[in-house]
Amino acid sequence: MLEDLNNKYEKYKPELGGKFKPLECQPRQKLAIIIPYRDRRRHLIDFLSHMPPMLLRQQVEFTIFVIEQDTPEIFNRALMMNIGYLEALKQDDYSCFIFHDVDMYPINDYNIYQCSTSPTHMAVAVEKWKFGMPYDAYYGGIVAYPKTIMEKTNGFSNLYFGWGCEDDDLGPRLEVVGLKFARPPAVYARYATPVHSRDKGNPKSPDRFRLLKNAKNRIWYDGLNSVVYNVSKIEKKKIYTHIHIAVDRQKLEEVGKLMI
Ligand code: UDP
Ligand code: MN
Repeated sequence: MLEDLNNKYEKYKPELGGKFKPLECQPRQKLAIIIPYRDRRRHLIDFLSHMPPMLLRQQVEFTIFVIEQDTPEIFNRALMMNIGYLEALKQDDYSCFIFHDVDMYPINDYNIYQCSTSPTHMAVAVEKWKFGMPYDAYYGGIVAYPKTIMEKTNGFSNLYFGWGCEDDDLGPRLEVVGLKFARPPAVYARYATPVHSRDKGNPKSPDRFRLLKNAKNRIWYDGLNSVVYNVSKIEKKKIYTHIHIAVDRQKLEEVGKLMI
């Protein structure tokens, strides 16, 4: 239960909204963990049971933001990541952003949650891929971006409604600005992943390959500078911040249509 976790973490004295700071030092970075989310309560409870203790052992200053898509029905992971970034910055001056699937749990404390100057793909040794990755250009699961690089890449694409390729889009986008992903060593960047079925409201996107083919051409039009959404509710819980989002798909796609 989430309420039990509140008690468990009381001794760390998080500020409302789940702002945790190490008690013995002043970290250089302020980390926002952004979780694109809908209807995964079991996974969220496991995530919140697991992450704060590990991050506190690592002496990280952090807040977890759960970005829940209320509407429309078809889920858009990268869009929730963009919105999470913008909303987190309204709360505090975060310098490092880790975009994190709710169903990946780090199992090695040496997998440090901080940003370097490069964008970093962190899901390197993933249980469901036999503690590997499905292909070399896999950028799924978890990525870390310092704020400066989010600004440089105009964030992520807003147009991937449904499952697939929104993560592959990150590679070409970084290429345009002359960057590529770094990766931590596989011995550290290990993740446990529960088995689950495909969610209702997240069918394979029929547009995904067409969008991906076009990724490099859209970067300056489709991203942080073109995102439109409404915040329906911000819940500052004791150990995390839960933000509910309503999106108008048609409005977003008007921007995209010009480029596709
Ligand atoms: N997700 C979610 N609700 C959904 C679909 C996706 O919360 O209905 C989020 C969740 O954080 C999940 C991530 O998006 O971990 C990636 O989706 P999924 O787990 O379906 O991808 P896969 O397991 O195929 O990599
Ligand atoms: Mn999953």
